[in-house]
Amino acid sequence: MRLDDSVDAIKGIGAKTREYFEKLGVTSVGSLLSFYPRRYDSFEEPQDIRSLKAGDTGVICSSVTNVIEPKIRSKIKIITCKASDPTGEIDMIWFNQPYVKYELKPGYHYIFRGKVTGTPGKLSMEQAKIFKREDYYKLQNSLQPVYSLTKGLTNNAVTKAMKQALTLSGELPEYIPAGIRKQFGLIKKNHALTEMHFPKSTDTLKEARKSLVFEEFFLFGCFLKAMSQGKSRDDGTVLNNTELCDKLIKSLPYSLTEDQENAFNEIKKDLSSGQVMARLIQGDVGSGKTVIAELAMLMAAADHHQAAIMVPTEVLAAQHYKSMKETFDSFGINTVLLTGSLSASEKKKIREDIKEHRADIIVGTHTLLQDKTEFADLVLCVTDEQHRFGVNQRKNFGQKNEKAHILVMSATPIPRTLALIMYGDMDISLIKQLPGGRKKIKNCVVGPEYRPTAYKFIRDEIEKGRQAYVICPMISSDDGEMGENVEDYSEALSETMGNSITVEKLHGKMSPEEKNEVMKRFSENIANILVSTTVVEVGVNVPNATVMMIENAERFGLAQLHQLRGRVGRGDYQSYCIFMYGKASEESKERLNILRDSNDGFEIAAKDLELRGPGDLFGIRQCGDMYFKLGDIYNDANTLKDAYEAVSTLSDEEILNIISKMFESSAKEVFKFLENYVTI
Ligand code: ADP
Ligand code: MG
Repeated sequence: MRLDDSVDAIKGIGAKTREYFEKLGVTSVGSLLSFYPRRYDSFEEPQDIRSLKAGDTGVICSSVTNVIEPKIRSKIKIITCKASDPTGEIDMIWFNQPYVKYELKPGYHYIFRGKVTGTPGKLSMEQAKIFKREDYYKLQNSLQPVYSLTKGLTNNAVTKAMKQALTLSGELPEYIPAGIRKQFGLIKKNHALTEMHFPKSTDTLKEARKSLVFEEFFLFGCFLKAMSQGKSRDDGTVLNNTELCDKLIKSLPYSLTEDQENAFNEIKKDLSSGQVMARLIQGDVGSGKTVIAELAMLMAAADHHQAAIMVPTEVLAAQHYKSMKETFDSFGINTVLLTGSLSASEKKKIREDIKEHRADIIVGTHTLLQDKTEFADLVLCVTDEQHRFGVNQRKNFGQKNEKAHILVMSATPIPRTLALIMYGDMDISLIKQLPGGRKKIKNCVVGPEYRPTAYKFIRDEIEKGRQAYVICPMISSDDGEMGENVEDYSEALSETMGNSITVEKLHGKMSPEEKNEVMKRFSENIANILVSTTVVEVGVNVPNATVMMIENAERFGLAQLHQLRGRVGRGDYQSYCIFMYGKASEESKERLNILRDSNDGFEIAAKDLELRGPGDLFGIRQCGDMYFKLGDIYNDANTLKDAYEAVSTLSDEEILNIISKMFESSAKEVFKFLENYVTI
């Protein structure tokens, strides 16, 4: 029997049954084999009747007495008997199963497995399955598959068909090379499938599942790699002058973390390879991505080329410009800022500087993308906080100069595995460690009655020399919606805090100059408290701030709250995050508790994905159905990582061989979604 034979090649499956199977998406023998059980029934050790509780599924070994013939009550045939063991007695009831009568012989022992109902002292077991003792003991150590069914198809029928398919399909093709199977402890396909459908134990099931999940991810990875092969990377400018980088690293007041070093090493390798770099740096908020970008840009500038960094907000552009200018000035490198808020004449002048190559490093917002912005010799495009830009903008920036190296930085803490899929065309560096010496942010989730305490706490921190952010969801009371707004809140807070504490406000409706001024005063600790909308969400870095208080926290997404929290805990001081809800349901409190209990952006993002879907995280509405039959990109993240690593060790030829093998069978079905999904 071949895998692409129709299911009716299996004995006992006729035209009717074939239709039922089709309804379940099972058409071929191959697709039947990957029609995995929805769950498994396990057969527990029989228990004492005394220990049964209503609501349980109980298993008892007992003799029966008093078997009562079918009685008919309002058309329902009822059979009852008493089952007893040395610890007690229970009433057994079957509805509409008249044949039960013939199975039960008074005085004999049976194993019954069924739902326990009633109240203590008056329990009964309903619709119990009846087993001969020896049969049950055979089943007891195994798990029985429970399949999704459709009308006309019983679990028994599927089980029977499956057993046949497993025996008749013979030796199944192994797509994963033997060496890799051995390395990752994977079992052979036939064995894995048999165990997946009819596991001998939970351990063997786990092993089988892992092997099958690995195969799904592995083949997916092969596909991705094959698809990106045809499109070999363009030639890129070779950059290998690290002289200035070494100087910068030496001058830093800290040493790079291992992850930062790895990321930079990978970038160096890319830049000197002669091919265009396309690399994503993924690092949780505060992990220190900026300095990596600076180092990469220095390599471009060291060889007298241009590099640009694009960021999503003016506030962040101004902040990056300020700190980068300081750094690069000392190397004699000219840094400019180009944003939409500059006056027309300023923009014109800066654009000329860029075009005439008087500017080496260009910091800007999406204004950089405009046709009017022409670069003299752009060899490196960095995009910071990439998730805040649309997918198209990311591509456009690369198109400014097709041969420019691309470096993309994102704090969206999507699981690496998901990133591999989302950014299938990019290499990824992960910065997971936070710089040492950082103290874990302390969190609390509280209601408005806690506000006075929070204010006192903030006051104490300010007295110690620290600063605080307070985030409100709205700008002003005209925004109509209920909730705190920056305008009123900052005024009231200023009054509460008294003259010695300076409260300032920041929101998107202020002019860029005003915003910059406020940020400047806050970063210089002239302003002690910044009441702001989420404009500070991305990238803002004021390490002296130690308190983040978020009003109406229930209004924000988890990933967004995590980004906001990332504004504190950036220095050596203990930092705090106060999630204050206005009117929160139990559900939203629970959601906030996820943040209280975890500072790990990856974990939080996974939860957020579960709750709200991926659209918000990626800044795009829909990102297609990512669909693996067994694999779960969150829970099986480690397997996915292994599978990808395995793929990366294969040569192009090996990958092509694997793929052609897949197309000979029906494994390709699994990857239908790839076509609409991956755009390489
Ligand atoms: P993000 O990854 O969120 O962009 P930043 O690059 O803004 O983070 O870095 C956050 C803070 O950590 C900055 O103040 C930066 O100077 C500091 N920092 C970066 N790397 C290190 C390090 N290896 N050790 C200590 N502090 C660091
Ligand atoms: Mg940043």
